[in-house]
Amino acid sequence: MQLKLHWQILIALLLAVLVGWLVSPDTSIFGVLLVSVFDFVGKLFLNALKMIIVPLIVSSIIMGVSNLGSGDAFGRLGGKTLGYYVVTSTFAILIGITVVSIIQPGIVDGEPAKDMLGLSADTSEVMQKVEGKSAGDVVGIFLRMIPTNIVHAAAEGQMLGIIFFSLLFGFFMTKIKSDLGNTLKSFWQAVFEVMMLITDLVMKFAPIGVFALVAKVVTVSGFEAFKPLLVFFFTVIIALLIHIVVVMPLLLRFVGGVNPIKHYQAMAPALLTAFSTASSSATLPITMDCVQDRAGVSNRVTSFVLPLGATVNMDGTALYECVAAIFIAQAYGLDLTFGTQVSIVILALMTSIGVAGIPSASLVAIAIILAAIGLPAEGIGLILAVDRVLDMCRTAVNVFSDSCGAVIIGRTEGEKGILQA
Ligand code: ASP
Repeated sequence: MQLKLHWQILIALLLAVLVGWLVSPDTSIFGVLLVSVFDFVGKLFLNALKMIIVPLIVSSIIMGVSNLGSGDAFGRLGGKTLGYYVVTSTFAILIGITVVSIIQPGIVDGEPAKDMLGLSADTSEVMQKVEGKSAGDVVGIFLRMIPTNIVHAAAEGQMLGIIFFSLLFGFFMTKIKSDLGNTLKSFWQAVFEVMMLITDLVMKFAPIGVFALVAKVVTVSGFEAFKPLLVFFFTVIIALLIHIVVVMPLLLRFVGGVNPIKHYQAMAPALLTAFSTASSSATLPITMDCVQDRAGVSNRVTSFVLPLGATVNMDGTALYECVAAIFIAQAYGLDLTFGTQVSIVILALMTSIGVAGIPSASLVAIAIILAAIGLPAEGIGLILAVDRVLDMCRTAVNVFSDSCGAVIIGRTEGEKGILQA
């Protein structure tokens, strides 16, 4: 009997931690650095996932919207979906603010911890990306929602633009003559089905891909980097855990009326992939596969809620942005007035909607928040050493929340077959 996919991935992940711990960055076999082997294999897996994203998002949104047919269903499902995104992200942010205010990781023995923590050594690359960001950049993020050139947006991975165009395309497909509309429908349906089959193939390689990605992270960062930032690290983990093991199951149980444990089981491959890739977009094909095939949500809901959610709904990211910004403010000794906290909440919500589902996307958003509350962007240096692992965790939370959205919305649409097996 073959081991189930999520067990294979989990074992790969644990093995990767062990191997990464045993191997050092300069260990080589036959003159080849092991890290570069991990890097190569991990990149192949990531490339394969990324290759699927654009055609998958476009075909599934176009199909999802055109299947909704009349304006009514579109408005209802759209309203529920956006409502779910905003409510859960706000919950996440409030949990983040509460936990970081209670634990106060930026204050050690009553003093701001900036000097004790020391800036992470290798900040130059990130600094280039985040330097000069200001609150005005939130506008830039949303400007790209309407792309001047859809091909360029696709090539640059600007998902908001692609989503916007696909929503329009799918909507107006229902407004043309029915024979023409049907031709387009069969075409996009076929593209979508082919993309899902390619996803199945890529998923078979997930254990190898996950092993390589995680082994590389552990080999490169080791465990040392964590020590000075342990309190901050656990603050984020505790807040994320509250969201994913308290808030989400309550919503699943009482709003969705389903058994949360079954949903964790159904989503295991997607959660482990999200953890390993640190990218909700790259995980999207696997998320869709799990929600549709393992949790039993209809294609109608899945193909609408998930591609949107992968870019727009990021609970873990919103929570992290808040905790990180407040931690840095505490470490710099900034007095956090009520007004400042409200700005942080609003900016975290907006940037979590606007930033892409790619690794480290939060860092740019945090730079925007820091600028808005009057702190230097280099404050980000304080959190860099632990950012990657926290990125892995928050991405899993992002993906889990999207999947819960699909389940809950499916149930409120009267679907009976969800999580029954
Ligand atoms: N890596 C996250 C994601 O893809 C985004 C972030 O918080 O950096 O969902």
